Order: sequence, then structure tokens, then C-alpha cells
Amino acid sequence: MDQDNFKQAVKTLGVEINDCQYFLFAKLCSLLMIENTKKNLTAIKEENAIYQKHFIDSLSCALAASFTHSQKVLDVGSGAGFPALPLSICFPQCTFIALEANGKKADFISLAIKELGLSNLQSVKGRAEEIAYCQSFRENFDIVLGRAVAKTAVLAELCLPFVKISGLFIAQKACFAAGEIAEGQKAVNIMGGRLENSRKVIIGNESRLLVSYRKVKSTPDKYPRRSGLPVKEPIK
Ligand code: SAM
Repeated sequence: MDQDNFKQAVKTLGVEINDCQYFLFAKLCSLLMIENTKKNLTAIKEENAIYQKHFIDSLSCALAASFTHSQKVLDVGSGAGFPALPLSICFPQCTFIALEANGKKADFISLAIKELGLSNLQSVKGRAEEIAYCQSFRENFDIVLGRAVAKTAVLAELCLPFVKISGLFIAQKACFAAGEIAEGQKAVNIMGGRLENSRKVIIGNESRLLVSYRKVKSTPDKYPRRSGLPVKEPIK
């Protein structure tokens, strides 16, 4: 995608990027395309689709939260670094951690951090169910993001334990997810969250849902349950 079109598209999300930042996106796109042929990191392989479905879609989080001051942000189940990589390029004032269970994907994020010289992003390989019990992670983030990781009932259990009281959890969802979002409400409540906003976002020709939850009380100590259990036995 050329520079003007990309800048214009992200502007509609309230995000301004300069030439250096555009150059970093171009570099990230090439790196992802090269590494994807070797490691099969993401199903989205073509350049224009990477810009639309990875870069612009990741930046749509800016419609749900302000990344303009020095906030701590965690991306749970980041895959090949989405939404953490695009957000860390655009918001150097925030510090980001991309948490990913798959070593090959976590290594790609580390490689991208090095190649792009991103000093505000760190890649952590691990499972949310375990890392949530580390003192420096638990209830220690202003914003926690989850895109295409699991249904809301599962995602809430994986993400909300990391959110500070009064912080935000943002779930990026497909437009047809309204039913499972409603089903996940019980898990959200148990984890100490409260639905704040749900909005439809159009990215290219796709309709997406951006759902945000405010952390209103502490997550009980027993959550998240042991690795794999949130998916195997989601809270109903
Ligand atoms: N967020 C990325 C995106 O939108 O492109 C990746 C989505 S991918 C479908 C889901 C990712 O979540 C996978 O890479 C998987 O390894 C990771 N994941 C799933 N459960 C996890 C857990 N409990 N802890 C950490 N990562 C997890």
C-alpha cells in the first residue's frame, strides 16, 4: 500500500504517522513476508492484505483507548506481533509487551523488534495462564489487548487478570461475534471487568467489532485456571 493511502487510512482511526514510521511499516511488511515463507507465521501473506488486515486493523485499537501518554500495554496471544507491533511503531511514548505461547512466533516478534529498532516493545514467550501469576505482570497494565485469540469467555480469563483496577481490556472481534460476546459476560464479571463500549469498525471491506471492558474490581486469586483449562472448560 502506498504511503499516502496508508497515512490516510490510519488518519481515519485518529492515528498520525510520519515518514520514518511509514518506513518502519514497509520494513515490517517485507520482514513478515520473508519470514512467513520459512515459518508460516500468519495466513495473511500478500502485501495489501498485510497492510489492511494486520496493520490498519491493529491500529483500530486507538478508537477504543488513548495511547498518547506513557501507558503500559500488554498484547495477549500476539501471534506474529498483532496488534503490538503496529501500535508500538505509532505510539513510542507507551511501553508494550507482546505475550505469545508459540516460540516461533515470539522469536519473530523479537527479530522484528531488533530489525526495526523498537525500544518500547518486548517479546515474552509464555502462556497467559502462567505469566498472570508473575508479580510484575498481575494487575500491572493500563491496557490489555486480545485479537483473534479465543472466545470472550476464554479471553476474559486470559486477559483481565493482567489489567490494573480502572484499566482497560480491549477485545478485537469479528463482526459476527455478538453472540459469544454476550455469552462471555459472566466470565468478564467474575474477572472484575465491566462492559464499557462496543463499536463496529470498518476496515477495508470488512466489518469488525471493538469491545472494551473497564476493570472495576480485582480478579480473584484463583484465576486464570491452570494452562488449557480456560479453553477446555470456559466459564458459562
Ligand atoms: N493476535 C494475533 C493476530 O491477531 O494476528 C494472533 C492470533 S492467533 C489466531 C492466536 C495466538 O494466540 C496464537 O499465536 C497462539 O499461540 C496464542 N495463544 C493462544 N492461547 C494463548 C495463551 N494461553 N497464552 C499465550 N498465547 C496464546
